[in-house]
This record gives sequence, structure tokens and C-alpha cells, in this order.
Amino acid sequence: MAGEPQADCLFCKIVAGEVPATIVHETDTTVAFRDINPQAPTHVLVIPKAHHRDAAALAEAEPQVAADVLRAARTIAADEGVESTGYRVVFNTGPGAGQTVFHTHAHLLGGRGLEWPPG
Ligand code: 5GP
Ligand code: ZN
Repeated sequence: MAGEPQADCLFCKIVAGEVPATIVHETDTTVAFRDINPQAPTHVLVIPKAHHRDAAALAEAEPQVAADVLRAARTIAADEGVESTGYRVVFNTGPGAGQTVFHTHAHLLGGRGLEWPPG
């Protein structure tokens, strides 16, 4: 069922504490942890605790939690000291866009110059 933990989902396992992660922020509905393969000095993944396959599915099922993810990203950006220099929040959606983990996650990237359009 949408929103329920999935036994084969890596990020559900991180939410459950079954896979270790460097957690930097947590709320009732979200958790954020450092990406294992960082692409910038600040590279944090912000996820809903509930399992949805991507950002679009989360926005459809639980729009308030989608807002919680964005609010958490802003808080972390401030904590990491990148709010003033600028940062990027990215939801890769679908394999063609590079999504490899099918549990909604926002990439929060900052701490270096970020070209636009991205590669
Ligand atoms: P995607 O490619 O789906 O947009 O992003 C998935 C991200 O999850 C990648 O940036 C990847 O480095 C990160 N990742 C994959 N496995 C793990 C893990 O076990 N722990 C952490 N912290 N990040 C992971
Ligand atoms: Zn999941």
C-alpha cells in the first residue's frame, strides 16, 4: 500500500534504523542524511519517512509531507551554511533522469558553484 514501508527498499531500511546513515535532521515525517557518494561539499538526501516511489507520487498522496521535505531542506541548507551562497534541491524522477532509489528523495546540493543547465 502507498506510504507503507517496503521490505526491499534501502531508504525504508534507513528510516527503520536497519541500515546505518549519517542523519543530519529528523522531523515527525522526514529524515535527512548525507549521501554516500557526495557530489558537492553539502550533499544531503531529504526523504519522507513514508514510502512513495518518487516526488510526484508523494505530492499526489501526501502533499503536506512534500511540503515538509522542502521545509526540511531549507532548514538543513541554513544549518550547513549554504543558504546565503545558494543551493539546489533536485528530485530525480524516473530512470531516464538518473533515479536509482525508488523512495522519494530530494538531493540538497551546495557548497560549490552549480552550473546551469546541469549535466
Ligand atoms: P538517485 O540516483 O535515485 O536520484 O539518488 C540516490 C542517491 O542515493 C545517490 O546519490 C546515492 O549515492 C545515494 N545512496 C545510494 N545508496 C546509499 C546508501 O546506502 N546510503 C546513503 N547515505 N546514500 C546512498
Ligand atoms: Zn521506501
